[in-house]
Amino acid sequence: MKILSAIFVKGVVGDDDILEDGIPQVAFIGRSNVGKSSVINALTGVKGLARSSSTPGRTQEINFFLINNKYYLVDLPGYGFAHGSYERKDFIFNLIDSYIFTAPVEQKKIVLIVDAKVGPTEDDLAMLQSLEQKGKDLIIVANKIDKLNKNELNKSMLNIRELVGPHTIIPCSTTKKIGLGEIADKCFN
Ligand code: GDP
Repeated sequence: MKILSAIFVKGVVGDDDILEDGIPQVAFIGRSNVGKSSVINALTGVKGLARSSSTPGRTQEINFFLINNKYYLVDLPGYGFAHGSYERKDFIFNLIDSYIFTAPVEQKKIVLIVDAKVGPTEDDLAMLQSLEQKGKDLIIVANKIDKLNKNELNKSMLNIRELVGPHTIIPCSTTKKIGLGEIADKCFN
């Protein structure tokens, strides 16, 4: 489905009425710097809608965007950032945990973004395992494929396939605008 409108609704850090207001939620998750903000901005066509992890502020909240007046795109904070303190890392993991695993929400879809060049990291695979254990409906987005030549891309896709198992994998590049239509179709239809 084409994304016609995307509006920032609010950022939450714990319990909030928005979690249970009945609007279907599609959650985007990935380690810091994987390009999650770029994917959200490219997908919605709204520059600067999602803030990148290099900018402070909203990145430590769970941000809700209303898509086509019909769905929430839920932008979770990036995990595992290199420069954060342990306390900050814990805070982020707890925030993600409380939303994904303990809040009374059944996400319509969860989009786990990995870096196609780096491949799924240990943190990514741990997150994937937790999501699978909770029976979440998820897809994998392999971002930054523009960094790879054809041969490298084939290798990378095989590697990701081997590590993540049977989930849908969508190759993506925000700079080259590849894969965005497919993500929208899988998530907001
Ligand atoms: P976030 O921390 O996951 O929200 O990541 P950002 O969206 O801030 O992106 C992190 C870095 O990756 C930035 O320098 C982006 O320009 C870059 N980036 C994001 N998407 C792509 C992509 O598809 N290709 C390339 N080459 N770089 C990208």
